Amino acid sequence: MSTQSLGLDSALAAYLLRTGTRETETLAKLRAETVERSDAHMQIAPEQGQLMHLLVELIAARNILEIGTFTGYSTLWMALAAPSDARIVACDVDPEAAALAQRAWDEAGVADRIELHLRPALETLDGRLNEGEAGCHDLAFIDADKENYDAYYERSLRLMRPGGLILVDNTLWGGSVIDSAKRDAATEAIRAFNAKLSQDERITLAMTPVGDGLTLARKR
Ligand code: CA
Repeated sequence: MSTQSLGLDSALAAYLLRTGTRETETLAKLRAETVERSDAHMQIAPEQGQLMHLLVELIAARNILEIGTFTGYSTLWMALAAPSDARIVACDVDPEAAALAQRAWDEAGVADRIELHLRPALETLDGRLNEGEAGCHDLAFIDADKENYDAYYERSLRLMRPGGLILVDNTLWGGSVIDSAKRDAATEAIRAFNAKLSQDERITLAMTPVGDGLTLARKR
């Protein structure tokens, strides 16, 4: 669903990977290891990783929140673009996936800029807010359970500085957002979330068809 951008055939995806991304050896190895897992569809596409890498550079992001780290592939793309004194707060609840992530971060020499929090992300985000970190973060990547997207977004918005960027994954959800037969909780949550953001004056919005739908929201 999201290991390659929606509607892209595999030949064009391969061309994009070859020509338009600069995946390091560690990133490529981690992607290959993740493909072996039954939940491999949760990994972002390489072209999305490359875009997120550039966005981190563009806004000179130092304080980054990642909500849904999985095997750490997206984290690694961002970490490789961040300065050595950056701090990435990575949230997940799957210790097995996190072990794979940790190994890749070590191998790439960026583990010291990533703080892994293995507990529900809302607890970690509320912890950051209680520590007085509202307005202190540059970028957030939301890619965890869809039913909590709105809660993750509202907290992330408070934690961002003005001009900070919130990236939200899977906002096209394999096309389910326009399939009226799909009434499951995750799909409904994404529909409601997308509708809300389309009217949200607190942000500048760009919904893109990168990966499985990547929404960019810049805090005003
Ligand atoms: Ca995802």
